[in-house]
Formats: sequence, structure tokens, C-alpha cells
Amino acid sequence: HIPMKKHNFSAGPCILPQEVFKEASEAILDFNNSGLSIIEISHRSKDFVDVMEEARHLVLELLGLEGKGYKALFLQGGASMQFLMTAYNLLETKAGYLNTGSWSDKAIKEAKLFGEVVEVASSKDANYNFIPKGYDIPKDLDYLHLTSNNTIFGTQIKDFPEVSVPLVCDMSSDIFSRTMDFSKFDLIYAGAQKNMGPSGTTLVVVKEDLLGKVSRKIPSMLDYQVHISKASMFNTPPVFAVYTSMLTLRWLKNNGGIAAIEELNEKKANLIYSEIDVNPLFNGFAEKEDRSMMNATFTLANGDLKETFDAMWKEAGINGVNGHRSVGGYRASMYNAMTLDSVAVLVDVMGDLERKA
Ligand code: PLP
Repeated sequence: HIPMKKHNFSAGPCILPQEVFKEASEAILDFNNSGLSIIEISHRSKDFVDVMEEARHLVLELLGLEGKGYKALFLQGGASMQFLMTAYNLLETKAGYLNTGSWSDKAIKEAKLFGEVVEVASSKDANYNFIPKGYDIPKDLDYLHLTSNNTIFGTQIKDFPEVSVPLVCDMSSDIFSRTMDFSKFDLIYAGAQKNMGPSGTTLVVVKEDLLGKVSRKIPSMLDYQVHISKASMFNTPPVFAVYTSMLTLRWLKNNGGIAAIEELNEKKANLIYSEIDVNPLFNGFAEKEDRSMMNATFTLANGDLKETFDAMWKEAGINGVNGHRSVGGYRASMYNAMTLDSVAVLVDVMGDLERKA
């Protein structure tokens, strides 16, 4: 029995397609008719090694990075671990960071433990409601670090800077959501839990020739080269998170890949932002040109309507639209698995509020 699903606009973790939830739950009881659960089969068995290899392969295939010198790894410790692991492995003297939100800020804090950090630009003074543009990038950086989508503030980088230094990007909240030339990045990382799978694993896609250049010694668990040499199985991998991520990647491939999901994501974003712009009861938080396709942030023009609005969306079967405490108001997260119908339900409620008020 599967209960009536809510329209889940929560920022995470994690919304996945219904069919993935179903297949993953079946594998918990019996994986591939083996009489064993996916979480009890040996992670060194051929069955699980095949899962890991398919997941790693699908990542590179979907991103268009096959045969271009990249490796995909499924690690642990969340994207937060990557804040320090990127610096540990890549920062010899100086790195540049674009500060576009709380997550960038946290990445900067960790990097400072390893070397000099240049904040190339920041929108912190405007509570991160826009993406800085036109800033200078020093030529002597070990790398430039960007956050492609700012989950909390609802901004997204649309045009990535052309750089002569290696580019590192936290894509936790928009990986696999839009097409681009991913080969312009030397290292991409993303917590699984928005567009890919349950929390518990973090995807790292790294160009191998970027590594091995720092002079410090790196502990094995934090060394990308160690994980690469062990085919992402240096220690016991988070088997359920990797398996479920693989199912989502399969689903994405079978449904037309990133290009097809991007088309849907654009429709969802256009639907909600049009409502925010025409409905006088709502104000968008992010600058229009920097609006995120994944997380739409908005506030009520008249706070007195909060109780009424909150009751209305709850009644409509909607979950998780409350904004993050540092922005307030509302945030509608529309990751890949969110349907256009669910967004239409929220937009209808917003329209009903205007008709009612
Ligand atoms: N980076 C971004 C853009 C995020 O949205 C998040 C979490 O939401 C993180 C990093 C931190 O991820 P984790 O909780 O996996 O450490």
C-alpha cells in the first residue's frame, strides 16, 4: 500500500521519482532475486561492484564526460566534507572563492585552514539575493571555487566565468538539472540528496590530471587519488545510497537525460515565477536574472495573510514550502523528480489566495 503522495517542495533530503522509491524499497527486501537485501550483500560481491560501476559510468555518460580524463567517486561526509577535501587536495598557496551564499561561506572557512583564500566577489551584503558578475580572477590561483546553485537563497549561476585556472564547483543542488559543457570544470562535487539519491553519499567528478600537485601529505580517506585507485571502494561504501543513486541515474537516462529534464525544469520554474510576478500578494527574493530553476524563494507582500496561506497549501497536500530562516517567507524547491502538476497545485493555491484576499 502506497499512501497518497504529498507535493513535496522541501529543499531536501530527498525527493526522488516514485518508481525509484518503489524499486529501492523492493531491493531492501530482495535484491535481484538473490534472497538477500541490497544492504546485506557483500559490497565486494560482483553484484554490488556492478552497481557501483554502473553508477560511476552513468554519471560520466550523463554529464558527457566519458573518455575525457574524469573519474566519478561516491564518497561520504556530505558536500560539507568536500569543502575541506577540495582544499586539502588542491590548495597549495592560493585559491579563489566566489561567495554566493551560506554554503560558499562555509567552503571558504574550511579552505582558509589550508592556504590563502581570495574572495573574488561576494553578495553577502545583500543577503545573497544576486550572483556577482564582472569580477577579476587572479591568474595565479590554484583553483577558483563556485557554487552553481544557492539552495537557501534561490540564486543560480547562469554564465560561468571563462577562466585560465582550474574550476571547482559545488553543484549539490542543481547537478543533472540542466545541460552545459561540464568539461569546463576540473572538479565537481554534489551531495546526493537533492537530484540523485538519499543522503549518505557525495558525488565527486574529478579530472585526474588535477591531482597529485600539492606538497602536503594527505590522509588516505581524504585523498582523491586513493579513492580513484580503489575504484571508489577504499572502505565500505554507503551501499543503499549508491544503489538508489544508480536507480535515479538510470531513470534519468531512460527519460531522455539532462536535456529532457532541463526542459521540464524550465517549465516548472517559468510557471512559479510567472505567478510570483503577476500575483501582487507575492514578492520574489532573488534578482530576476539570477533566479534558480531549482529553488524559488519568495515572500508574502502582506504578512497578515501568512496563516491563511499556510492553511491553504497544507490543505492542498503540499509539504515543505517554508523558507529557510535566513531568508524567511517561502521556498519552493523543484528538483528533477518534482512534477509540473505539483507545481501547478502550488500556483493554483497562490492564485486562490489572491482571489480570496
Ligand atoms: N552545498 C550546497 C549547495 C547545499 O545545498 C548543501 C546542503 O543543502 C551543502 C553544500 C551541504 O551538504 P551536506 O549536508 O551534504 O554536507
